[in-house]
Amino acid sequence: MSHCPKSTHQPHACPVSQPLVRLGQGDYTRDIYPDGRHQAPRHREHDTLTATRLATLRRCPRQHYYRYELGLSRIRTPDALRLGAAFHRGLELHHLGVEEAEAIDRVAAGYADVPDWADPFAWRVECEVVRQLLAGHFWRYGDDDIEILEVERTFEMPLVNPETGASSRTFVLAGKIDAIVRLADGRLTVLEYKTAGEDIAPDSDYWLRLRGDPQISQYVLAARAIGYDVATVLYDVTRKPTISPSQIPILDDNGCKIVLDAAGKRVFNQNGKPRQSADKSKGWTLQTHLETPEDYGVRLLTDIGDRPDYYYQRREVPRLEDDLAEFQAELWQQAKQLLDSRRHGRWFCNVHRFTCGTCEFADLCLQSVHVTQGQAPAGFQILSDVHPELSRGDGP
Ligand code: SF4
Repeated sequence: MSHCPKSTHQPHACPVSQPLVRLGQGDYTRDIYPDGRHQAPRHREHDTLTATRLATLRRCPRQHYYRYELGLSRIRTPDALRLGAAFHRGLELHHLGVEEAEAIDRVAAGYADVPDWADPFAWRVECEVVRQLLAGHFWRYGDDDIEILEVERTFEMPLVNPETGASSRTFVLAGKIDAIVRLADGRLTVLEYKTAGEDIAPDSDYWLRLRGDPQISQYVLAARAIGYDVATVLYDVTRKPTISPSQIPILDDNGCKIVLDAAGKRVFNQNGKPRQSADKSKGWTLQTHLETPEDYGVRLLTDIGDRPDYYYQRREVPRLEDDLAEFQAELWQQAKQLLDSRRHGRWFCNVHRFTCGTCEFADLCLQSVHVTQGQAPAGFQILSDVHPELSRGDGP
């Protein structure tokens, strides 16, 4: 289906002809048009609301429109998502019984082929980051007292109207829980893994925000729905490194650094020993080479060993019954807003550097690129399943 030419920056905003037939009633209706158009693609029997989808809708309805209504996704996976997924897969493999070293090697094998669009050096560095973060995690938590009961457990449950108790005929809630575990004191909890690019120290804003994160409530409700009476979520957060490959001094056969003058001649001190430091004012430069990804990996692992709390934090985030009730009311409200946007074909933009700065659709949205439903713009693909995370990575 093609959008009205005037509506490139306001999808579905153009006036449309009368539908041939209107299907459904109650909380959702679906219009069928003479030319086969309908208001939104259906990818599953029910329309699935995941925590990721709901977060996208809260962040920016227009972003939600591109991703979940049109099914668009960039062909090139953003670096942060790719690294997080690989790290997550390594932990999953280990929980499923794969030895630590083999789990790391299997994940690293995913980096064996360098995609056309990737910088080969950066690709190898990312592989090292995943390897060393996994090694550090296995070392840090190798002796914890946690009993794993479920791994990568998918769930689906009804979306319930909090006032009437009736289930939505349109939406279901779905997701995947990383693990359900029994803590040393016998309590059951959901274990969730995250990778973060910000400070995760106990007094950081990261944990403050998490206390109000609706995703926590969804995990608790989901675990109960599949038979585990949990009251808390154990968050296991790994911070991505802030150190990167650096310039390393080149050493001569005696292990001394090499400093050259402007003419390319080696500089010696008055005592005849090779000079060991540069001097810009005299044009003397220290000879260096870029650290190899493998050497960087060794340095990163050393850093992890020196300050593990900088890289890894685990904390419980509890939920009260009142929080859960409030969450269910918010879910229903969000679903109603989604339907309203869909009915009226209006998905407003939430333009802000915090939203647009990381938006994969910014090139389309901010430049008012015309998008035709069913046709992927350059650099994008149309997903056959808009929730690939629900089926990804099954099995050891
Ligand atoms: S660029 Fe900004 S306004 Fe547009 S879809 Fe992305 S987040 Fe929303």
